[in-house]
Amino acid sequence: MKIKTITICGGGNAAHAMIPIIRNHFFGKMNLFLPFGDEANHFQKLIDEKKYLTATIGEKEIYGRPDKASKFAKDICKEADLILMPLPAFAHEQTLLQIVPFLKEEAIIGAIPARSGFEYAALKILKDNKKEKVKIFGMQTLPWACRIKEYASKVDILGKKRSVGMAAFPYKITSELASFLTQLLDLKIKPLPNMLTLSLANVGQIIHPGIMYGLFKGKEEVKYRKEEIPLFYQGVTKEISQTLKTMSDEILVLTKEIKNMDKSIDLDQVLGLKDWLIYSYKDLIADKSTLQSCFVTNSAYQGLRVPMKKIDNDYFLPDFQARYLTEDVPYGLVVTKAIAQLVKVDMPIIDEVILTISKWIGKEYIKGGYLKGKDIGDARIPQNYGINNLEEVIVY
Ligand code: NAD
Repeated sequence: MKIKTITICGGGNAAHAMIPIIRNHFFGKMNLFLPFGDEANHFQKLIDEKKYLTATIGEKEIYGRPDKASKFAKDICKEADLILMPLPAFAHEQTLLQIVPFLKEEAIIGAIPARSGFEYAALKILKDNKKEKVKIFGMQTLPWACRIKEYASKVDILGKKRSVGMAAFPYKITSELASFLTQLLDLKIKPLPNMLTLSLANVGQIIHPGIMYGLFKGKEEVKYRKEEIPLFYQGVTKEISQTLKTMSDEILVLTKEIKNMDKSIDLDQVLGLKDWLIYSYKDLIADKSTLQSCFVTNSAYQGLRVPMKKIDNDYFLPDFQARYLTEDVPYGLVVTKAIAQLVKVDMPIIDEVILTISKWIGKEYIKGGYLKGKDIGDARIPQNYGINNLEEVIVY
């Protein structure tokens, strides 16, 4: 696999973590595409002052910087062999539309993480722009929990997964690409057999909306002082873990039904939530006995709090516009529900979570039990890309 130039898109937490990690494992060119507002100028000015970006991983520090940052896709994507999109899913399509005219025929472009339905949007954009030879991939999650400490200067990498799944289209590049990404990102990237696995095994769709639902359903108006803001993962109670388990079980029932309908599809990597936590975090979990203990004793999740917005000097309310909801529902649960609708599988708890959160975020995806709400056009469901049967979903 000849990768001489890498372009990273975006300047959020994940991009900050990736820059020093990649710099330490890759000796070609690495550029940064920052189309958003004045981010490119701002980043370039700061990195020129600070010289490099520092990532702290436990006791260790690593350093790196991109060769250049630009707002313009034509400056930064023409030579790229590999384009990485460590972005919230709602930025994927706009970013792809900006870069597609400049992509090399043999480029590879990937979403980290993919969330659900990435392949429907990406392949349509490539086809519409006659760039069908460009290859795509998606990763099941972001390999790290990370937060910017100081823009273009410092990032904390709070936890690193043991291994992350990756699926590519066309499938034939998966194994070689997984080896390359393993070396580039310094953790095991596990090849997955198809892109449908990514959508169904998108654990963010269970964890983020499920915990928010459990913590705040019926308590939407409760105000918190700063010191009272609940812990997010460590705030998982027995009852919340039961909701998460039921959501995970509903996805496993859907997975089983798809396998019954098409015996040739390999969905063995769609794991139950507890199995996934143990697989991904293994040594970081002190007590693996229950789903609840896998959250509350997981050192990678320690200290992370619920997203809140300040309402006055003393009080906070849950931030229902946080990406835990605005990303993981339309680019997660709603996609899973759409696939379930194609194969006629019911998911009562997932429906209840979608309906509750839709109200919180001011959207309507489900109406009368079907995905016919007024905002369904904004969700990345296969039906929005002209895919209306299981056979076409399975193609990727
Ligand atoms: P972030 O909110 O820090 O990303 C913000 C950046 O994304 C912005 O600086 C901008 O460059 C870009 N961006 C945002 N909206 C855009 C738009 N509409 N168009 C173009 N660019 C846009 O996000 P993050 O924390 O880096 O997370 C990236 C992805 O990784 C998300 O899917 C997130 O859910 C996932 N994730 C993050 C963590 C974490 O610890 N940070 C953990 C697990 C998964």
